[in-house]
Order: sequence, then C-alpha cells, then structure tokens
Amino acid sequence: EERMVTGELQSEDSTVELSLRPTTLNQYIGQAKVKENLSIFIQAAKMRNEPLDHVLLYGPPGLGKTTLAAIIANEMGVQFRSTSGPAIDRAGDLAAILSSLEVGDVLFIDEVHRLPRSVEEVLYSAMEDFFIDIVIGTGPSARSVRIDLPPFTLVGATTRAGLLSAPLRDRFGVLSRLEYYETKDLCSIVERTADIFETFISKEAAVEVARRSRGTPRIANRLLRRIRDISQVKGEKEISLETTEKALKMLQVDDVGLDHIDHKLLIGIIDGFQGGPVGLETIAATIGEESQTIEDVYEPYLLQIGFIQRTPRGRLVTEKAYEHFGLKANDAE
Ligand code: ATP
Repeated sequence: EERMVTGELQSEDSTVELSLRPTTLNQYIGQAKVKENLSIFIQAAKMRNEPLDHVLLYGPPGLGKTTLAAIIANEMGVQFRSTSGPAIDRAGDLAAILSSLEVGDVLFIDEVHRLPRSVEEVLYSAMEDFFIDIVIGTGPSARSVRIDLPPFTLVGATTRAGLLSAPLRDRFGVLSRLEYYETKDLCSIVERTADIFETFISKEAAVEVARRSRGTPRIANRLLRRIRDISQVKGEKEISLETTEKALKMLQVDDVGLDHIDHKLLIGIIDGFQGGPVGLETIAATIGEESQTIEDVYEPYLLQIGFIQRTPRGRLVTEKAYEHFGLKANDAE
C-alpha cells in the first residue's frame, strides 16, 4: 500500500525527485548545524588537498540524506558513486566497487546498517587504511590478495546510528544527525519546488502544506504534486489555501499530517490498552504491521510531536493525542 505521508521513497517519487535535488550546500534548505559543520570539514579537507573524512548521516527517511551525500561530492569536486547495504551481497561486490573509485571520490552507501557482516568486515580496512584483503579461489589453492585503494570518502546513511555495529560506527569521523525540518524551512522547500514546477502557490497554502508534512521534505514535495494536480484541474492560477485544505482532506491527511495508519496505531493503543503503556510487539500484532516499520517509520514523528511516549513498560499515548481525537485521557475504558 502506498502511503501519502511516509518519508520512505514511493514508486512515483523517484523520477521527479531527481529534478528537485539541490546541488550545493547553499541550496540545501534547513539543517543549519549539519551544514555548518560539513562546510568547515569540506573547506579544511580541500585546503589540505585530502579527501573528506568518512561521514555518517542518520535520521528518519526522506529528510535528504542522499541529497546531502551528493552535495558533499559536488562541493569536494569529486565523483559520486551510490549503492546500498542490501545491494551488496558478497565481499567481492564491494571489492569491485572500491577498486573502481578514483582519488577522493564519494562512495554513498544507503542503509549502511544492512550490509552483510562479511562485507562489513572488508570495509573496516578499506575505511581505515585504504586497502582490502580478499580471498581468491577455494580450498587448498585459496590465497589472500591485498588490493590498495585510492583514498576515498565513505558516506553512509541509516535511520538510526544505533543500528550500526560499534566497529563500523567508530570508523566514521563525522557523525551528522538530520532533524525533522521546521515549518519555515519546509515552507521554503515547498516554494522552491513550486518554482521548479513553474507553479504559483499562495503563501498560506505553502505554509499549510509545510505544517502537514511531518517535518519531511519528501512528503512536502509529494503532497504539493497532488495538490497542484487538483488546483490545475480547477483552473486556478495560483494554488489557494482553500484548494490545499480540500485536497489534503481528500488525501486523508489530517491537520497535523497524520493519516489512517497513525490513527489506527493511536486509536489501537487508546481503545485496546487504555492508552498504554503497551509493548511494541503487542502493538505490531494488534494493528498488523511489522514492529521494525512502526519503530523506524511511524513512531519517530509521533514521538517528535509528543503524541506518544516511550516508557520502560512500553508505548504510552499522551493527553495531547487524546485531545487531537477530541477524547479525554480518563474517558478510555
Ligand atoms: P531516504 O532515507 O529514503 O534515502 P533521503 O533522506 O535520502 O531519503 P532524499 O532522497 O535525499 O532523502 O530527499 C528526498 C527529497 O527531498 C528529494 O527530492 C530532495 O530534493 C528533497 N530535499 C531533501 N532535503 C532537502 C533540502 N534540505 N532542501 C531542498 N530539498 C530537499
């Protein structure tokens, strides 16, 4: 099922997103702290004529990790190579990628926590000393061959830094955590995207899209595309607030950016468990979703806006969430 308000990449996003990617740090909106740090590290590396230290980007999906990785390569003036943890099955696959790099290149590995253990181990010496040992052949004729690599920069992306093994995490010199975007930054992203689409949008409409996009640029851009379709069919010259509100209602995105899955999760805890605390696994079983998906995709934003709390005894729905549904916390039976 395709979901309007998930930060995860959906099939319809991929092609259009390429045209929306900012290419320099200056064009990259928001994330001031991350940008400031990276900008200093990039300048210093360039002054020393050295590759940038390995960078780990972490944070919820759709906040712009891939975009930022490509910007790093662009700012360093090197090639950008991109792959993902689950795409690299064997140590040999990684060796092939690494040995094709040129000096200073950026190798981006999305979902770096999902590298198979045997591949991850090869990465240690590659990151630390720019060489790999690979075993060629099998049985008695097997031998280990050392391959020297050009110095390069690994940019890894993951949803949570804690998902990485300690030895891998320790090999990143720069750890940058991406935060949910503030409404004003998302509003700028919406306006920038509208510009690229050559569409006009009123300020209030842009703010409304921003407010309901769960702090996530990917969601903001996706909502904007749908609203723009509806506005165009209505023959509007400029996307209005009224159309935006109607469209979001049609798309079943509520005032704070929650959809039926969030509702199912929250109401599930309210109705089934008096608001909790209840364990993650129990919630997952009750609403029929994977606990990992709940933890990585649904829950972070609900935690961020204070609709649920994590307690040692499980998840607790807050009074704020009860109010959102027009309920009182002690009403629950
Ligand atoms: P995933 O974790 O799923 O790979 P991601 O965090 O790598 O997602 P991106 O693909 O980099 O997300 O970004 C999603 C979309 O949001 C892109 O189309 C990008 O253009 C836009 N975007 C992300 N961050 C920014 C930003 N700071 N300014 C402008 N646009 C942005």
